[in-house]
Amino acid sequence: MNVIAGRCDTLRVSEPRYRGRLAPSPTGRIHFGTARTSLVAWLRARAAGGTLVMRIEDLDPPRVVPGAADAMLEELRWLGLDWDEGPDTDGPHAPYAQSRRGDRYKQALAQLAAAGHTFECSCTRKEVAAASSAPHGDLGPRYPGTCRHGATHPERPRSLRFRMDAPGASFDDVVHGAVPPSPPDDFVVRRSDGLYAYQLAVVIDDIAMGITEVVRGDDLLSSTPRQLALYDALGSTPPAFLHVPLVLGPDGARLSKRHGHIAIADYRDAGHSPQRVVGALAHTLGLAQAGEAITPHALIQRFDLTVLPREPTTLNDALWVG
Ligand code: GLU
Repeated sequence: MNVIAGRCDTLRVSEPRYRGRLAPSPTGRIHFGTARTSLVAWLRARAAGGTLVMRIEDLDPPRVVPGAADAMLEELRWLGLDWDEGPDTDGPHAPYAQSRRGDRYKQALAQLAAAGHTFECSCTRKEVAAASSAPHGDLGPRYPGTCRHGATHPERPRSLRFRMDAPGASFDDVVHGAVPPSPPDDFVVRRSDGLYAYQLAVVIDDIAMGITEVVRGDDLLSSTPRQLALYDALGSTPPAFLHVPLVLGPDGARLSKRHGHIAIADYRDAGHSPQRVVGALAHTLGLAQAGEAITPHALIQRFDLTVLPREPTTLNDALWVG
């Protein structure tokens, strides 16, 4: 008799299987911080027996470096990470590059506009900055509402903003816990040069690809309330969010090129094995000893969210010495 099997199936249907994603922007190389966040996303998906999607976030052509997408995929594979759907493996949600998904974003904007969620804005960045009295956070100056009732300079190229009437919702981050509400801000969903904004594209794609948990660096924590407002306006249930604390350079500044050889390709060129590099990444996540060599697969059983650091990690040479 199949009663028990039948019940299990019902349970499985009501609880969606884990679907995570890796979403690199092909604007450079995979560096230590991106690799570490990718490792956490991979471990979450693999530990849950779920699916991992690779999506190339090449939304902003002037910033895209030719060849970077292929190089990034190759560097992640060298580390031992893999994915189940993506530009190289294809899958039911193709295309997996944002530059080829413009029709979806256009359609979503039409839906938002029809429901009165957007307005055209002719303000320049300079004007917004000059008119905004609030201190500028990560996301730049808060929009002062100038064009809410009609573009003040209709002869100029116009961006499209999302009308955010209520404060950004508070949410429970898997790592950070309760994140308090943030002040409302009418953010750009399509730029005045016609390019779709990150905030819009990421939400449309995560909905379309059935993502159940977003794992990313906590530089994007402040974007989450905007994205939640979009989920709400589109009538979609948001995924869970897990923001991984960033890696900082030895000087305490956000990791960047000026910190020297921090690209995964640099470690490879210096003769490190992928297991050694994964060991160093895992050490900063509380999952390996300093100097340990280990594969991502071997980390699955060790993976433990409770040991994940809640504070930024500083990159230093001690990571490599056992
Ligand atoms: N493409 C973004 C990045 O590379 C990640 C966006 C996201 O995970 O929401 O930083």
